[in-house]
Formats: sequence, C-alpha cells, structure tokens
Amino acid sequence: MRRELFEAEHEAFRETCRTFVTKELVPHQQEWEEAGVVSKDAWRKAGAQGLLGTAVEERFGGGGIDDFRFNIVLDEELITAGVTGFGAPVHNDINVPYLSKLATEEQKSRWLPGFCSGEIVTAIAMTEPEAGSDLQGIRTTATRDGDEFVINGQKTFISNGINADLVIVVARTDPDAGHEGISLLVVESDRPGFQRGRNLEKIGQKSQDTAELFFNDVRVPATNLLGEEGQGFIYLMQNLPQERLSIAVASAAGAAKALEMTKEYCRERTAFGRPIGKFQHTRFELAEIATEVEIGQVFVDRCVREHLKGELSIENAAMAKWWVTEMNKRVVDRCLQLHGGYGYMLEYPIAKAFLDTRVQTIYGGTTEIMKEIVGRQLDI
Ligand SMILES: Cc1cc2nc3c(=O)[nH]c(=O)nc-3n(C[C@H](O)[C@H](O)[C@H](O)COP(=O)(O)OP(=O)(O)OC[C@H]3O[C@@H](n4cnc5c(N)ncnc54)[C@H](O)[C@@H]3O)c2cc1C
Repeated sequence: MRRELFEAEHEAFRETCRTFVTKELVPHQQEWEEAGVVSKDAWRKAGAQGLLGTAVEERFGGGGIDDFRFNIVLDEELITAGVTGFGAPVHNDINVPYLSKLATEEQKSRWLPGFCSGEIVTAIAMTEPEAGSDLQGIRTTATRDGDEFVINGQKTFISNGINADLVIVVARTDPDAGHEGISLLVVESDRPGFQRGRNLEKIGQKSQDTAELFFNDVRVPATNLLGEEGQGFIYLMQNLPQERLSIAVASAAGAAKALEMTKEYCRERTAFGRPIGKFQHTRFELAEIATEVEIGQVFVDRCVREHLKGELSIENAAMAKWWVTEMNKRVVDRCLQLHGGYGYMLEYPIAKAFLDTRVQTIYGGTTEIMKEIVGRQLDI
C-alpha cells in the first residue's frame, strides 16, 4: 500500500534491518522457540549493527536521531519475518524514553552505552500477580534507608525478564500517597536479593522470554531512582502512548503480512477444479481484510505523524491500540480459515501468527482499558 511516512534514510535503514533479521534471527527462530528465549549474542549483534537505541544520543553509543520511524522500521521487519521473540521493541520503543529522558547524566553514562551495544538488555516491570490493569494497586515497595532504597515485592509477565540485565521497576515509595507514592527505580540484575522466577510458558511468542521477577530486600543506591520520587505514575502515563503505538504498529504489520500470505495461498490452493481465490466468498473475505488492513495502517501512520510532532494524545494512542490489535486478531483468524486444515498446522506461518498475535489485545493495556480511556474523553 502507498504510505507517505518514510524518507529515503528510513528505507535504507529498513534494508539494514531486513538483512540483519534474515541473517541473524530467522535461522535461529526454531531453536529459540524451543529454548523459550533469544540468545544474548543476538542482542550484541543487533547492537553492533546500530539497531538498538537509535534515539539515544551519539555520545552514549546511540544513533542520535530521535525519530520514532526508525523504531517502526525495525518493528515491521521483525513482524514481517515472523520473528516475535526478539525483545527489541520493549528495549527501544518502551524503555528508551525512560532512560534517555528521565535519567541523569551520571545514570546515562552508566547504562546507555551497554544499552546501545546490546551488552545490557532491559525490561520494564509494572505488572504484579494482583495488579495489571489497575496499576495503582501495585504492592512492591521501595523504602528509603539512608542513601539507598530497599525493594521488596514480586512482578510477573515481564518481557525480556530472563535476559534482562537492567529492570525499570515500578514501586511504591510512599504507601499512603496513592498514585503520588509510586516511583521508578532501576535494578541491575546482579544486585543481591534480585531473583528471576519461571520463564512463563505461553501459547505464542515462544522465543520471547516472559518471566516472574522477585525482589527480596534488594538494595539499590538512591542514585538509581529515575526522575523524581513520587512521579512514577505520571511518567508511565506520559510514556504509555508510545508503547501502545508500538503495539499498534506491530499489529498493522502483522495483519498486512497475514493478508499477503493468504493471497498467495489462495492463488495456489485448488478445490473443485480452481484456485480457492476464484470463489466469490474468498474474494469477498480478502476484500474485507484488505480494506481493514488499509484503514488500520492509515490510522496508525497518522498517529505516528502526530507522535513525531509530540502531539499524540493518550486517547488516540488508545484508539490505535485497541482497534488495530482487534483488527489483526480478526484478520489472522479469517486468514487461518482460508488456509483450511493447513492453517491449523504449525508448519504454516499463519498458524504461528494466530498464536503470536493473540496477546496484542492484552499487553500494553487491554482492549477494555483502552475503551475506558477513549470513553472517558467523550463527555458523556
Ligand atoms: C506476553 C505478555 C508480556 C507482558 N509484558 C509485560 C512487561 O514487559 N511488563 C509489564 O509490566 N507487564 C507486562 N505484561 C502484563 C500486561 O500488561 C497485563 O497482563 C495487562 O495489562 C492486563 O493485566 P492483567 O493480566 O493483570 O489482567 P487484569 O487487569 O486482571 O484483567 C482481567 C480482565 O479484566 C478486564 N478489566 C480489568 N479492569 C477492567 C475495567 N476497569 N473495565 C473493564 N474491564 C476490565 C481486563 O480488560 C481483562 O479482560 C505482559 C503480559 C503478557 C501476557
């Protein structure tokens, strides 16, 4: 489809991403799916190719270009290649703003060079067993003790949780201050008391490590506080739109890929003496899917343009997140149907897409929560 979002430099970067994904990730996909985790080596190779931290300042080893379109290009190339386990979108799209905009000079020089080289894999830990949608319900505490914070609690469903060397932890620094008592603390994985739990077994995105994390009297210096104490909830609200846009981008790319795979299948598969694409029902299905894919992409690209200007509202990000992820879910389901029995077989990429896609309406804020956000602004 015709898109007006990208310039020549993005397309050049797309070539670099595509080559990297094809050469360094795709051949290991099966092995990593079985292991439940991507190798750390892949992270370092991505760092060496300049794929990590394009928005980070050059003096810390980043690309020095704060242009979200570079993030999008990598996200799209990963999805198009069916690589759903390499957690660069979490690292680049979700965590960069926290580490580059809130961190002090001293923190940046400690963390960002490793972040960009792939030596330091990052995760963000908001969700707890008893608090997901309701983030204000978190129980993990960070108690001030002299020049340190002592962290206690448990997180779950944390992407990059097994590979992470550095975790941005959402914790309660004041138990009586409601959302104003929430802060962000950075925990390096070699701190005593930090423990990884299970690498959780999921129905899809099998090579993405998604883990439980435990904090038992983990001491971090007060200089590991990100931004100001008590402002953590505000920082999350400011940065969640980029996270949601990133998921919408992946969903739009996933739906477009499912359509392409299915068109090809419908050209080749025959029944009743003709390609199944010649049945009117199939054409109508594909016509509806193509229309939805196009509409979704147009809205996502509009949101990206708003985001580039610093004007993406929380509501528009929520609209994109819920509608495009639900669209992708519908599209992949209908595409699987058009593959018949083969669509149910894991050797066909549409089956993997069906499983990998399902979580997109859940993580980063569920469809229901997105509708709450949109609904609140409708003045009803
Ligand atoms: C694969 C995966 C990776 C993840 N990665 C991360 C990560 O890296 N970091 C992180 O912090 N978290 C991560 N998460 C957690 C994810 O963001 C949460 O699972 C999600 O926000 C939902 O929270 P919950 O699972 O506690 O569900 P709940 O909040 O318990 O929701 C259960 C159901 O109730 C509905 N519901 C809840 N409240 C309302 C309401 N007010 N109105 C209507 N319906 C409502 C929900 O929409 C949902 O359908 C990940 C999750 C998964 C599955």
